[in-house]
Amino acid sequence: MCPTSPPRRWDGSHAGTHRPRALHVAPDSPTRLLRTAQSGTCRLCGNRLEWYQRSDGRPIGLHPTELTTRTVPARCRWHLSRGVAHPAGDGSAWCRIPHHLICPGLDTTTLTPPLNELRRQLALRTRRLIDAGAHTPPSAQPPPQPAAVCRPSRPIAHLLYGYYLADRPLEDIRCVAQTRTRHRCPHPVHHPSAPSGIWRLHSPSPGYGQLTLPGAAMALYDLSHLPYAEQLRWRTQRCPHHAAARGAADLALTGWEVFDPLLHHQHIHTRLPDRVRRRKGRQE
Ligand SMILES: [Zn+2]
Ligand SMILES: [Zn+2]
Repeated sequence: MCPTSPPRRWDGSHAGTHRPRALHVAPDSPTRLLRTAQSGTCRLCGNRLEWYQRSDGRPIGLHPTELTTRTVPARCRWHLSRGVAHPAGDGSAWCRIPHHLICPGLDTTTLTPPLNELRRQLALRTRRLIDAGAHTPPSAQPPPQPAAVCRPSRPIAHLLYGYYLADRPLEDIRCVAQTRTRHRCPHPVHHPSAPSGIWRLHSPSPGYGQLTLPGAAMALYDLSHLPYAEQLRWRTQRCPHHAAARGAADLALTGWEVFDPLLHHQHIHTRLPDRVRRRKGRQE
């Protein structure tokens, strides 16, 4: 008997013993984001786009195919280097372009005739998606129902000397790491066993470089008193287990945006969430 020969099918091919190859993020990689899971669709027009990180970590949605630089004005060119998107051409005859510049769901200004033609093709595809019921433009969607519990849908957090706007309620922020089964980790970042932040009312100071709204104290989730590693865990959006597992790649972009009181004024709340107010009331 030969114990080393692998089982084979009748046609000689290997039979079902394939094990998925373990992938690792290179220690010197500027991004931990796996490229395979980052395609998405535009919320406005339903067309495909691909998400990339910029050098400062912010996400940008690029049109999924390359275009010749002849058709794209220099100020609109982007290129990719080691998985990171940069706002310039790379000297080659090809470049990428941000989707929002050609999104038919936006009133974009006239670019070049080839880009206007591309935008027209995307608009046709949007029309076909709407007709097939595969896309509903935001203007046709029903308004969101107010939540029964008063909690910010996009809370503002204070960490790592900055203010960040989350993309969802605090308890719903999910770990972005890839598990050993190659799925996104289901665990929340907000974990009962980990030290937690404090809800408090805060007036943004002009010294921080952000504009202060007159007389406005805003509710924010303050993590600035936690150890650096714990603040970094929140910023990189990882559960306590994956904060320790540095080799795990990211399957999704983090949902934080740098908070800007002018852009994000609708997310400023001047009262603490219900749950916190009730707890404070009981203590008094
Ligand atoms: Zn779009
Ligand atoms: Zn995790």
